[in-house]
Amino acid sequence: MIRITDILDKIEAYNPGGDLDIIDRAYIYSARVHDGQTRLSGEPYLSHPLEVADILADMRLDVESIAAALLHDVIEDTPATREDIEKIFGPGVAHIVSGVTKLSALPFSTKIAQQAESLRKMILAMADDIRVVLIKLADRIHNMRTLNYHQNPEKQAAIAQETLDIYAPIAARLGIFWIKYELEEMGFYYTLRDEYERIDALVNKAKDEKEEYIKHVKETLTDKMREMGLKCEIKGRYKQLYSIYQKMISQKLEFDEVYDIIAFRLILDTIPNCYAALGAIHSLWKPIYNKIKDYIGNPKPNMYQSIHTTVVGPKGERVEIQIRTYDMDQIAESGIAAHWSYKEGTKVDKSAGELFSWIKKLVENQENYNDPDEFLENVRIDLYPAEIYVFTPQGEIKTLPKKATPVDFAYLIHSEVGAECTGAKVNGKLVPLTHQLNTGDKIEIITTKGHSPSPDWLNFVKTVKARAKIRGWINAREKERSYSLGREICEKTFKKKNQNFNALVKSGEIKKVADTYGFKTIDDLIAHVGFGKLTPLQLLNKALPELEKQEAKEKSLLQRLIGKQKKKDSTGIVVKGLNDILVRFSKCCNPLPGDPIVGYITQGQGVTIHRKGCVNVMKMSNERKIEVQWSNDFTESYPASLKVRTEDRFGLLADIAAVISKHKSNILNAKTETQETGLGLFYFTIQVESTDQLRKVMSDIRKVKKVTDVKRIVRSE
Ligand code: MN
Repeated sequence: MIRITDILDKIEAYNPGGDLDIIDRAYIYSARVHDGQTRLSGEPYLSHPLEVADILADMRLDVESIAAALLHDVIEDTPATREDIEKIFGPGVAHIVSGVTKLSALPFSTKIAQQAESLRKMILAMADDIRVVLIKLADRIHNMRTLNYHQNPEKQAAIAQETLDIYAPIAARLGIFWIKYELEEMGFYYTLRDEYERIDALVNKAKDEKEEYIKHVKETLTDKMREMGLKCEIKGRYKQLYSIYQKMISQKLEFDEVYDIIAFRLILDTIPNCYAALGAIHSLWKPIYNKIKDYIGNPKPNMYQSIHTTVVGPKGERVEIQIRTYDMDQIAESGIAAHWSYKEGTKVDKSAGELFSWIKKLVENQENYNDPDEFLENVRIDLYPAEIYVFTPQGEIKTLPKKATPVDFAYLIHSEVGAECTGAKVNGKLVPLTHQLNTGDKIEIITTKGHSPSPDWLNFVKTVKARAKIRGWINAREKERSYSLGREICEKTFKKKNQNFNALVKSGEIKKVADTYGFKTIDDLIAHVGFGKLTPLQLLNKALPELEKQEAKEKSLLQRLIGKQKKKDSTGIVVKGLNDILVRFSKCCNPLPGDPIVGYITQGQGVTIHRKGCVNVMKMSNERKIEVQWSNDFTESYPASLKVRTEDRFGLLADIAAVISKHKSNILNAKTETQETGLGLFYFTIQVESTDQLRKVMSDIRKVKKVTDVKRIVRSE
């Protein structure tokens, strides 16, 4: 087991004068709270945080990171709380430790392969301090190194798969290639042990021969560089088994066809010397077209810099050679950690914010990266501050914009869940629907059958989908209301005009109107009537233009006819014993000369003449009744009311009016009424001189085609 003093010595070496006291205290605290716990290896639990701290010391990280590494499991696995850590070690260490704890709490077990990308994003987004991720990676390295103590092979394979899916790619994104390679080799071993062992055996086959070959190439290169006056270090190495395996799978190659099992690296002092070395190598061996890549001129987004070339080597085989400076070599191994690690002479006091802006810049630069040959997807650092990653109760990850609410989440799950959403639990606690979600939250939506969205939701939802669905629902509801109102208005108005709206819908007339107004459906048209944007009369006139013309014709005809009305000057009534009496004809029964009549004295208004049978007369007091009779020379005319029923109404008004005027009778008033049955009904008030004349008029009207009935009517007032 590694000792704390070894770690302290390491730190002292790269960070002389650093605050080692905090590390000492973290060590003592961790030892105390983990006391009695053991690892599967049988070692005391403390060995694990010590190993993790040692890995971080190798990465030359600052003292806060190493203290946090020693404490990284205490919140999760011991009674210690974040508050305890903060009180004893300060907010910096507490923040990192609680960040690591949060990552450990993520429900990784479900559907990893399908959502690996989301999980990687989530981890990077959750770790608002990159040191949290570095500790998590170191933690995983040590757990993988000790995975052999796990008794259950299935569990081993599951952890190894998670390492390949999640942690190795994160290491690659952060440019820490030594971690990526180590995690991949171990992950490969535990997931596909047969393949691992087969390739391992093939690589080791005729190893002497290969060593001889490496020695030969290195010597040739060394001679050439010396000849050119270039000082350099040359490394020959076997490729990792996992990359050989991946190459075989992705390019469908046999092991013998994978040419670059051995790769060479030249490390030089300066960039110009790197290019000089490239020229020297190309003068030695023929380069392969298209295989030269200059990542010094065009660094990768994760800061990787190197020149790659593949040449036809001494035995006619392909040889891959990388050329870079010492600085570049350091960065290629430690990536983002190189940026964070302690540099001599400078105090590490970069705020997390500063580091993050640097990472963001990496992401932005990468968007300007247009080399299609690049495995950009693998080196991208996904830190999208605009997004959050949350869990469904089943452990599925969903991506939402920042500040999204449970309503956004509900609509993301399903439109119906959104519509019927009445409450939400976040991490088991009830929250209001306006609650803002955070990365890592586990969300459970409470729905109520038949519940509908509230327009208020538009004030706080963040996703386009939720907004559109809520708007759509509100519009649909308004349309539905407008539709039923519109239908009612249309039916009533059409009925008044003796038209059947529903029959016109069926016959297609209304569809034609909808088309002329540019509506997609009849329902849209009707809804617009309900909305008040169209009147039902507009609709009617569009549907039945003849009806409108006919009505206009009738109206003008009536006006002409009524205009002919003559003024009458004498009543033609003789009231017994009275002269010059004021006489009026009742409007309830319109008596005509020849009718039996009676007079009724109205105070201050003279005598009103009624027909004898009039119902109103029956109700009158006898004292005020007075005997009246028609005078002999009645040349005056009197109003009479007629009710004419017809089978149809179009054109009939003119025919009937013609009959009336043929008898030299004037029309005082006329109106038409329509009935649901489609029959016509006309009311006329005409001027006649006598009942005899009236009878003749009525008889002739009966002869008019389509007239079914003519009646004299007595209206009661
Ligand atoms: Mn751990």
